[in-house]
Amino acid sequence: MKTVTTFAGARALGSGVVGFVPTMGYLHEGHLSLVEAARRECDTVMVSLFVNPLQFGPNEDLSSYPRDFDRDRDLVKNLGADVLFAPPVEAMFPSAPLTTVIVAHVTDGMEGARRPGHFDGVATVVAKLFAGIAPDRSYFGRKDAQQLATVRRMAADLSFPTVIAGQPIVREPDGLALSSRNIYLDDAQRAAAASISRGMFAAGAAVRAGERSGRELERVVASSVNKEPGIKLDYAVLADQDTAERLEYLDRPAFLAAAAEVGATRLLDNIHIDNCDGEWAPDVGVRLDKPSILYKES
Ligand code: AMP
Repeated sequence: MKTVTTFAGARALGSGVVGFVPTMGYLHEGHLSLVEAARRECDTVMVSLFVNPLQFGPNEDLSSYPRDFDRDRDLVKNLGADVLFAPPVEAMFPSAPLTTVIVAHVTDGMEGARRPGHFDGVATVVAKLFAGIAPDRSYFGRKDAQQLATVRRMAADLSFPTVIAGQPIVREPDGLALSSRNIYLDDAQRAAAASISRGMFAAGAAVRAGERSGRELERVVASSVNKEPGIKLDYAVLADQDTAERLEYLDRPAFLAAAAEVGATRLLDNIHIDNCDGEWAPDVGVRLDKPSILYKES
């Protein structure tokens, strides 16, 4: 595996079908599942590691975001990635960018409403990565449902010739969706956090049992989280998978998303609800059979 810091360096190493996995590092099995999918489906696998300053708000954790380059490099190398693109901030932004990519509408609610400018930062940097790397296939987690919808729309609107491949959420054995930020949680917070995924699984079961009301599915998640002290639900919303618009009824592919605060840590989770051959199919993701590598290292 080669490590490069420039777009030209990365492009020079691409041959055949180029698969691309953008990350902000401090990798866990969620990220690694994207690398594995790219390895299965592409000739060249490129992983980027860049903590994108544009997507952090002024009071967010940019400076304290966990970073460990050597650990991340070894993990992706062991999975057979070909190229690690790890540009310093000055190489990505030799001068402050005057161009911003704004995806309207899809970014109005949920995380977009809570974190002004966040998705502009995501869309701007992902567009820059797509332009610079020129991938054929790009891998994103379903973990960040509104981000996935935003990136899909941005790539379609700007005609980036890359397939956006969304991948299932990877979870701890108790259901907690993996996130680099989980390392901030102490044991009590970790236990409280599991109420979000419990709510998601209960909502998934309700869908399988025939529930179609958005308000009822949201209530199932909210009641699971609200039972638990030490965690504060921000929202639970059933939304259209493409537009991220809130839905009254499950009548098109959707995701049921929730955000909650545990201490100073913001946690996101969702289930995507797909329509497979006329049947509603909740994608609850995949559970690891032992605790993730995040806990070994922290
Ligand atoms: P991040 O480094 O947090 O920006 O995430 C990079 C990519 O990994 C994004 O496409 C995320 O959606 C994806 N990702 C993060 N956590 C998970 C997870 N638990 N399961 C699947 N994908 C994930």
